[in-house]
Amino acid sequence: MNKKKLPFTKDFIKKVIEKYPTPFHIYDEKAIIANLKRFQKAFSWGIFKEYFAVKACPNPSILKILKNHGAGADCSSLPELIMSEKVGITGENIMFTSNQTPKEEYIKAKELGAIINLDDITHIPYLKKHAGIPELICFRYNPGPLRTGNAIIGNPVESKYGLTKDQVFEAYKEVRELGAKRFGIHSFVISNELNRASYVETAKMLFELAVELKNKIDIKIEFVNLSGGIGIPYKPEQEAVDLEKLGEEIRQLYDKIVVPNGLDPLKIYSECGRMITGPYGYLVTTAIHHKNIYKNYIGVDACSANLMRPAIYGAYHHITVLGKEDAPLDNKYDVVGSLCENSDKFAIDRNLPKIDDGDILVIHDTGAHGYAMGYNYNGKLRSAELLLKEDGSIKLIRRAETIEDYFSTLDFFDL
Ligand SMILES: *Cc1c(COP(=O)(O)O)cnc(C)c1O
Repeated sequence: MNKKKLPFTKDFIKKVIEKYPTPFHIYDEKAIIANLKRFQKAFSWGIFKEYFAVKACPNPSILKILKNHGAGADCSSLPELIMSEKVGITGENIMFTSNQTPKEEYIKAKELGAIINLDDITHIPYLKKHAGIPELICFRYNPGPLRTGNAIIGNPVESKYGLTKDQVFEAYKEVRELGAKRFGIHSFVISNELNRASYVETAKMLFELAVELKNKIDIKIEFVNLSGGIGIPYKPEQEAVDLEKLGEEIRQLYDKIVVPNGLDPLKIYSECGRMITGPYGYLVTTAIHHKNIYKNYIGVDACSANLMRPAIYGAYHHITVLGKEDAPLDNKYDVVGSLCENSDKFAIDRNLPKIDDGDILVIHDTGAHGYAMGYNYNGKLRSAELLLKEDGSIKLIRRAETIEDYFSTLDFFDL
């Protein structure tokens, strides 16, 4: 059971709202840093680096905090590369894991000296033509039918990502011919997975593949990128992944597979997003309407344009009504936003305390794939992002969009 605790009180948030009206996302700096350090410590037995998946929380202030504590950036688009560059994350501190990649992005990644992780064998000539083959190169492996069992992102055979096993061997030979000298291997087959065995399984698969590459074609892999996919306990009854046990189980495999095969030291990289910032972000919103028809609705000033996951995946996000943390959950509500879409519901049939208009609701676990997946449908403006700093103060790290922002790409004069 994970207690859905908050790093702030109602009185504190009421003061914040006087300056920054709801809705907004707020991130807990202290908790983000502590969590990153804990993750790094769990792998401190080896040479480890976390490349934060920028797409999960693309805000330069967040990237800077993570950078200051030893993380790199995992990018998959030109703006993500530029954002990383702007906060001083460059060179091999960037992992560029993209797919269907436009040439401009390869050119920028190469210019930054990023580690380029190719999603397909046909990208070798494409990269060569447009940006050149770098000295260090990585491939994304898709195990296809070889990987079954634990909860995976559907079936790898149906996944658009990565190279087949045969292609992996061909690809390293090809880039070696073209002058590449250093090699990494990557695979991403789980998503929001709370069972650590799945992540351990990815490590085993990549360790074994690194051994095969050495023995069969004399390619010496210098890092394995275990990618992302570590889940977070969105529901109070779920348990977070035990990072210490995860690190220890992977260490045992390292000792069993990597060391005896002469691949030590093999660097271990991850590119987690959700697990790094997800639990430490909150969407704060005000109840502005209540409506009783066939069901009881609470209308809030946020909508799924601020947090899309419930609408598109039916995802659970815990909700706390500030000041009513200990009140009985004796009302059943649908908590809904204002989009003209019936999927715009943050909670359905949720047992909550009695909610009055003006109550402040906190929607938990919005620190990853929250603001990031926002959009402007129905003319909804993107919210502000705030940082609850380590010293307890508040910093605006992205202002709310204005109507001028919304209209800024339109031309009203040439109609
Ligand atoms: C989304 C993504 C990640 C991060 O995934 P999480 O589930 O947020 O950990 C890492 N790498 C790639 C290539 C991704 O697309």
